[in-house]
Amino acid sequence: NAIELEGVVKEYVSHGEVVQAVKGVTLDIAEGEFFSLLGPSGCGKTTTMRMIAGFEEPSRGVVKLHGQDVTNVPPNKRDVNMVFQSYALFPHMNVWDNVAFGLKQRRTPQEEIKRRVGEILEIVDLTGREKRRPREMSGGQQQRVALARALVNRPSALLLDEPLGALDLKLRQAMQIELKRIQREVGITFVYVTHDQSEALTMSDRIAVMKDGLVEQLAGPREIYERPASSFVAGFIGTSNLLSGVANGGVLEVGGGRVLVPEREGDVTLTVRPEKITISAEKPDGEVSVVPGTVTEVVYLGTYTSYAVSLAGGTEVTVFQQNAHDARNIAERGDAVWLSWQAQHSY
Ligand code: ADP
Ligand code: MG
Repeated sequence: NAIELEGVVKEYVSHGEVVQAVKGVTLDIAEGEFFSLLGPSGCGKTTTMRMIAGFEEPSRGVVKLHGQDVTNVPPNKRDVNMVFQSYALFPHMNVWDNVAFGLKQRRTPQEEIKRRVGEILEIVDLTGREKRRPREMSGGQQQRVALARALVNRPSALLLDEPLGALDLKLRQAMQIELKRIQREVGITFVYVTHDQSEALTMSDRIAVMKDGLVEQLAGPREIYERPASSFVAGFIGTSNLLSGVANGGVLEVGGGRVLVPEREGDVTLTVRPEKITISAEKPDGEVSVVPGTVTEVVYLGTYTSYAVSLAGGTEVTVFQQNAHDARNIAERGDAVWLSWQAQHSY
């Protein structure tokens, strides 16, 4: 394992009160993995990252890099580098000098500096821009310079704390793909902090979803989306419908319908993703969950249409239906419809 956290806790004393920013995080990050810490603002992502980098000492617990306990090792003695949202480039230096700075400080031979800076600028696609100053470049380009400056030191892991936060949506999406490509090319471990679920899903091999200083779920993007471990994870990642009630003999009665809940009894809250639900005018047959409702809203969104359907009892359900070639709405506002899905698609 490249990085291991064992029961890591961080407490701050703020106005005489103890605040636990991180309440006990245990996780392993594999060599070469693209690993994300994902969660809402204030859940402890940055603090966790700073303990990996060595900028913060844990109040309890152990941090290991390549199996070595580095809990009390200062940042400059750790084989990791950190990239911040505010690129922190030297404004008076051009691209080349910004990237070469660390190597020069370590008295790396001139020839080697030339080769390594050239190589890394090629990887981040800035060849030909060596003489530019930061202010003559776009946000995306500056971010790539910051990345090159961190990568040129060949750290065994790169830590990135919301590095794309300052970019607009289009550029951010382009940079997500770019970052993933760069990571694959240099082959080092990336630990990526973000509060943006689509960003984490796009890039990560695995994601730790955090809430209130703890990891709620640690898994690959598909599993996190398809099998969220809690209703918090289900709600935070993508859109989901929550249905609550009392299960009896494998069936939950919701809004005049029958929802199949195999192997569950008593109080349950179910999650169903909007794209797993089918809308039909006729009541469907077969071993599926079936609930009647009334369409209250239809929103055309290009590749799909979003329907809001109100159930008896007031629960509101969101349904996404892919738009076919001859897309006409499956239902209109005010229509009485049936919603159905397979038992395996609710959890
Ligand atoms: P995130 O990066 O997920 O937004 P942080 O790790 O920055 O979260 O912060 C987690 C919690 O710890 C927040 O409630 C924050 O206010 C608190 N915190 C972080 N750093 C300090 C500090 N130096 N002193 C006191 N409280 C802090
Ligand atoms: Mg943060």
